[in-house]
Amino acid sequence: MHSRVRSQALFAAAKNRMPGGVSSPVRAYKAVGGSPVFVERGAGAWIEDVDGNRYVDYVLSYGPLLVGHAHEKVVAAVQDAAAKGTSFGACTEHESALVDKVQTVMPTIERLRLVNSGTEAVMSALRLARAFTGRDKIVKCAGNYHGHADCLLVQAGSGVATLGLPNCPGVPNSTVKDTLVVPFNDHSAVETVLNQYAGQVAAMIVEPVAGNMGVIPPVDGYLEGLRRITKAHDVLLIFDEVMTGFRVHPGGAQSLFGVTPDLTTLGKVIGGGLPIGAYGGRADIMAWIAPEGPVYQAGTLSGNPVALRAGLATLELGLDEDAWAYTASQTSFLMNELASIATRWSVPMQVNGVGTMFSCFFTDESVTDWGTASTSDADFFAKVFNAMLTCGVNLAPSQYEAWFTSTAHDTAAVTHTLRAFDKALKVAVG
Ligand SMILES: *Cc1c(COP(=O)(O)O)cnc(C)c1O
Repeated sequence: MHSRVRSQALFAAAKNRMPGGVSSPVRAYKAVGGSPVFVERGAGAWIEDVDGNRYVDYVLSYGPLLVGHAHEKVVAAVQDAAAKGTSFGACTEHESALVDKVQTVMPTIERLRLVNSGTEAVMSALRLARAFTGRDKIVKCAGNYHGHADCLLVQAGSGVATLGLPNCPGVPNSTVKDTLVVPFNDHSAVETVLNQYAGQVAAMIVEPVAGNMGVIPPVDGYLEGLRRITKAHDVLLIFDEVMTGFRVHPGGAQSLFGVTPDLTTLGKVIGGGLPIGAYGGRADIMAWIAPEGPVYQAGTLSGNPVALRAGLATLELGLDEDAWAYTASQTSFLMNELASIATRWSVPMQVNGVGTMFSCFFTDESVTDWGTASTSDADFFAKVFNAMLTCGVNLAPSQYEAWFTSTAHDTAAVTHTLRAFDKALKVAVG
């Protein structure tokens, strides 16, 4: 009998100690109801909660765990690194080793700066873009999320949308007045904005495959169009690959679509489940970063050796050609089978995915941007989410999050998931 009494007690206690009982908002289950699962441990594709229930996990810490939970080689790398000292605030050889690994698969990154989170990577890349161009305005897409930096908390996808916080209090108008928002997958909207604000825009930042309003691939020619238009206006193009990096393709979206950004932001997978971020790209732009140039950006724990060793081990295992091909094929099989089950239950559902991340939108409209993503039935998702949980499958508690897979999502895990989905749709339709 599935019971979560201990999770419930822990959540009640946490609510008296932390805002909403959580360290990051989506974890509180506001969009789906009920009390969040408290996790005890993870192994491969599975997690176990504090009540002893087991779940196939598609959250994978919101993307980083490309090789699943507690892979023995990642654990060994972390243990070895920690035993030698967790942080020095000094140079180590692991920094160049990680950057080298990233550059092998993302050759557009001529120089890379390591930081501690995706948010920090994006903030720093924007500061750099503004300094390099001498301009203040930036363009972003509705429904894209780039971390919680002030100037980007405008129409920012999952977390913000799920909570119904379109304009975040505490963000000064003066900070967002330079943020211009365009619809995703519409490069002519970008052209219009760049003409209107000619000479004032420093950069356009985009998730090359959107992942924070559910997964939405770029339409044909979109990224190429952005590249052409930004170049014509001397505007830097920043690909935020914090999520897509190493999930849509071993070389990220820029390799998959063959479009070269000026700057790239990374995070998640490159830390293998430990805190990390990074930004990089053209050497002439990165030369503006201190100490080579005048743009200040620093960090006590930046280039942390434990995070680097976890990231390196994860990239080595996860980007292996056979491992990658296996994970991608398991994912597309899963997507197809989920779609068939939905059809069998006459549930309108769109499955969008690229590589090792995908989403199921409960709508009969094809989902290409924020407007169409938000036609997805949130109440129906909440029913499916809760039924899946009871059947032993852990999805992210918001319809606007992606499902992530790993090298550990084997046939047993996938089969378990498909059985659960069939039962969950029965409950949700019922
Ligand atoms: C997760 C994410 C971020 C923020 O990264 P954090 O490490 O959570 O700060 C930024 N951009 C994208 C595209 C992301 O998916």
